[in-house]
Amino acid sequence: MSPVRAMVLDSPRTPLAETRVDDPEPGPGQVVGRVSACGVCRTDLHVVDGELPDPKLPLIPGHQVVAEVARRGEGAERFGNGARIGVPWLGWACGECRYCRSGRENLCDRARFTGYQLDGGYAELIVADERFCVALPAGYPDLQAAPLLCAGLIGYRALRMAGDAERLGLYGFGASAHIVCQVALHEGRRVFAFTRPGDAETQAFARELGAEWAGDSGADPPEELDGAIIFAPVGGLVLDALRATAKGATVVCAGIHMSDIPAFPYELLWGERSVRSVANLTRRDGDEFMAIVPEVPVRTEVTEYPLGDANQALADLRKGRFRGAAVLTVPR
Ligand SMILES: [Zn+2]
Ligand SMILES: [Zn+2]
Repeated sequence: MSPVRAMVLDSPRTPLAETRVDDPEPGPGQVVGRVSACGVCRTDLHVVDGELPDPKLPLIPGHQVVAEVARRGEGAERFGNGARIGVPWLGWACGECRYCRSGRENLCDRARFTGYQLDGGYAELIVADERFCVALPAGYPDLQAAPLLCAGLIGYRALRMAGDAERLGLYGFGASAHIVCQVALHEGRRVFAFTRPGDAETQAFARELGAEWAGDSGADPPEELDGAIIFAPVGGLVLDALRATAKGATVVCAGIHMSDIPAFPYELLWGERSVRSVANLTRRDGDEFMAIVPEVPVRTEVTEYPLGDANQALADLRKGRFRGAAVLTVPR
């Protein structure tokens, strides 16, 4: 067995190092996948920047992993060798706690997350518990499928949490919003996109995808919103969104990390508005979302980086330098 090329985080706030790691062995119920593509998520940035506590170290980041099963551990029978799998953020849950037993494994206290507590997909190979892998829709090449695994999936969970809002605001129009926008339109909703002030390029991108209005995050949309999803990690956007919503609206915070939400007058929340977060995903979310993807059909817009350029991809994500989603690819 030969060493495996990987991009490794040795300590937070340092660049990933291109390293050779040992060829992984699958444990019982696990598969080893040969990675072809791995999406780059804002959560990866939060891990690298030390904004999420206690990552496994050293760590291989990445939790939007498209791979081909290369080897299987004892009892792993769900996928055959050569099958395509997706490895998402939720890598393991206990199955026994109150949350797991009530269909809320996304909230499991002992959950372990890919590219955070478990090594992820910024590498040639990945080990995954087969029970938490996702079957990907046929007809989506690996490169285009990768962003479905978190940007799409957690975006979809956030969309569900926004209820049946017809006029939907999306704050931060990156990887997740560009997918959610398509699903929302498919469901007959109307989309209003908010970007960093002055980001005319991203506003144009949102309009191309069917948003009926796009503007700066602080701007007033032409109509009140019935719901909003905040993808950007900026606490002040919660206030912008509340100001833009109609009575009864839900404002969903979809990210894992956000700067502090400033104090605000109760009047903004009054009228049965609510603010809530969305945490992680369940396997059921994965099954539901992957079934909807080809129906829409979702088209992901990706910018490809070779695995060795992971630091560049993260830097470009930080600056919002590309449209849609960044995906690392591993040449065969
Ligand atoms: Zn649990
Ligand atoms: Zn993610």
